[in-house]
Amino acid sequence: MEIKNWYNDKKPWIIAGPCSAETEEQLMDTVGELYAQGIQTIRAGVWKPRTRPNSFEGVGKAAFPWIKAAKEKFPVKFAIEVASAHHVELALENNIDYLWIGARTTVNPFNVQEIADALKGVKDIPVFVKNPVNPDLNLWIGALERIQQAGVEQLGAIHRGFSTYQESVYRNIPLWQIPIDLKSRFPELLLINDPSHIAGKHDLLFEIAQKAMNLQFDGLIIESHIDPKNAWSDAAQQLTPNALKELLKKLEYRTATLPNEAFQNELEKIRDAIDETDKELLEVIARRFELVRKVGAYKKEKNVAIFQLERWQKILENRPEWGTALKLAPPFVKEIYQSIHDESIRLQTDIYNK
Ligand code: PEP
Ligand code: MN
Repeated sequence: MEIKNWYNDKKPWIIAGPCSAETEEQLMDTVGELYAQGIQTIRAGVWKPRTRPNSFEGVGKAAFPWIKAAKEKFPVKFAIEVASAHHVELALENNIDYLWIGARTTVNPFNVQEIADALKGVKDIPVFVKNPVNPDLNLWIGALERIQQAGVEQLGAIHRGFSTYQESVYRNIPLWQIPIDLKSRFPELLLINDPSHIAGKHDLLFEIAQKAMNLQFDGLIIESHIDPKNAWSDAAQQLTPNALKELLKKLEYRTATLPNEAFQNELEKIRDAIDETDKELLEVIARRFELVRKVGAYKKEKNVAIFQLERWQKILENRPEWGTALKLAPPFVKEIYQSIHDESIRLQTDIYNK
């Protein structure tokens, strides 16, 4: 899949709005305040995928006249979730500006293909694909490919975290390596973070959003509601437009490139020194493994077991201590030695099997 960059506006792109459009008044008031905070792209759920039945499932197409009214009053654009061909048709008929495919839809190639077919010939509407609820990068990429093959040229990906059965502070665990891998495969793909659905509660939003900025995400999609406590869905994770403004003010934005050549040169100098140190590091490691081979051959000759518990306990005890004296965090040193020890056992096993 070849992805082209199509987004040339201000970064980070902030998309904000209520989890769901509930009433005309709630939508209008929320949009008004968000617009006053400088937000120009509004999210709003029209149809809501809910985990359990009998909860609020969105107002459906009744929201379209409210969206139209909000767009007449404020110069904003709207993004909504679509989960079927019918949703796509209605969204297009009602001039919705951006569409997204939700996490529960991305998991199902039949549904994604149905949406892709409904999008055939639609070139000028950007489509964002949320990660699937399960941590499967290929499924995420597959959904993006289906949408692209329908002819959609403006693609984006939204990282909203992954379901887990384990206890976690997060509603959906972030597993940052997955969006990082996606970005490494497709550097031009617009990548947006959704701290709201990762957090599940508003007090975690800042730290997640900051992490996304540190990792060079292109934007954020954050749930914001005029009266979060009384929201009809996802009440715990929504912020008032005012609280959102505070959060955005606190965020530190990182740039991909340094502002001038002198800074860039300085950075390159430090990186050169790091490269040299890495070479030395690998040489030292190689020397250590030469000794491991020697000890392996000796143990084989004397017919003793490869793994010697006492020796391993000693290493685990004093290496982190030596590290501390060198300002290295003990858990980090321990992890290094676990990895070295694994490799050492593997090498010695080879020697024994010869
Ligand atoms: C949403 O954005 O409101 C939503 C339902 O998200 P997700 O598909 O990430 O669960
Ligand atoms: Mn939501």
